[in-house]
Amino acid sequence: MHLRDLFRAKKPVVSFEIFPPKAGTPVEGIYATLGAIRDLNPDFVSVTYGAGGSTKDLTRDIASTVKNRFGLEVMAHFTGLAHTPAEVDEMAEDLMDEGVCNVLAMRGDPPLDGVLPPNPAFPHAADLIRHLRRGFGDDLSIAAAAYPEGHLECPDPEQDLLHLKAKVDEGVDFLVTQLFFDNELFYRFVEKVRALGVTVPICAGVFPVLNPKQVQRILSLCGVAFPPRFARILARYADDPAALAEAGIAYATDQIIDLLSWGVEGIHLYTMNRPETTRRIMDNIGLVRRSLVDRNEGEAS
Ligand code: FAD
Repeated sequence: MHLRDLFRAKKPVVSFEIFPPKAGTPVEGIYATLGAIRDLNPDFVSVTYGAGGSTKDLTRDIASTVKNRFGLEVMAHFTGLAHTPAEVDEMAEDLMDEGVCNVLAMRGDPPLDGVLPPNPAFPHAADLIRHLRRGFGDDLSIAAAAYPEGHLECPDPEQDLLHLKAKVDEGVDFLVTQLFFDNELFYRFVEKVRALGVTVPICAGVFPVLNPKQVQRILSLCGVAFPPRFARILARYADDPAALAEAGIAYATDQIIDLLSWGVEGIHLYTMNRPETTRRIMDNIGLVRRSLVDRNEGEAS
């Protein structure tokens, strides 16, 4: 199914993001994870793409397995930074041969321990999206990444929004956001994006923080704000892993319930390949989510 059709038919949509296992780790681990999260009924699963193109075949193989063995709808992440136009075409054809017809098209980042020069073929995500749309038309459903607090490289947030609008205008079907911890920032971001004339659905990225290492990584890589309430929780339980994990699940639950009641079109849950955490959150939001889906279906019919 093309995800653009799913967003037309259902609100809110819930997706789970998983990542391929690290090099040298058996791939079977991810299949155990998938077996566990299948029971949680996500509307689709997205599979990340290693920085600098490092998981090209693995991302395709896992996406294919999600779809063909586990019977879940899937979106493959796809970056242009390390690829020629011919490689991009081959990758898209390979995905479609496996029945994977949804991609999250991004510029991408170089690996943390490496350097990749800018790619003249795809300097920005907009260039990759234009290329895919011209080559594959509506056979692909294309999503793009969005940054409620601005992308780290762009010094001017208003300019960053114009770049986002330019990207959507190349033929994006929906947006998936960077994780954030302050819903009010997300609501202001959506207002601004809508004021620019962007009408595609926007899925809110929610990340349950479970340990201090993740906090450091988020601070260094994403540049997102920690609102005072969340910062207090992190500080209070920093040296008590079990309590921090519990508080992280509660915070993510609270965030999602607020987003759902606000009327968000989609929740994109960064699962970190942890089915138990994902299950806890899905249990917590189960009735709230069901009530909204039922109500929206009732209004549509
Ligand atoms: P772009 O949209 O190209 O934006 C990058 C920067 O360029 C921004 O600062 C933007 O303002 C600026 N810009 C855009 N157009 C122009 C222009 N015409 N002139 C000047 N500046 C411009 N990375 C991975 O490697 N693998 C993944 O699987 C992955 N999954 C992700 C999933 C989500 C939901 C998100 C939010 C991010 C993900 N990323 C992933 C990270 C992403 O690759 C990086 O954030 C990357 O730095 C930007 O990619 P982009 O597609 O948003 O870039």
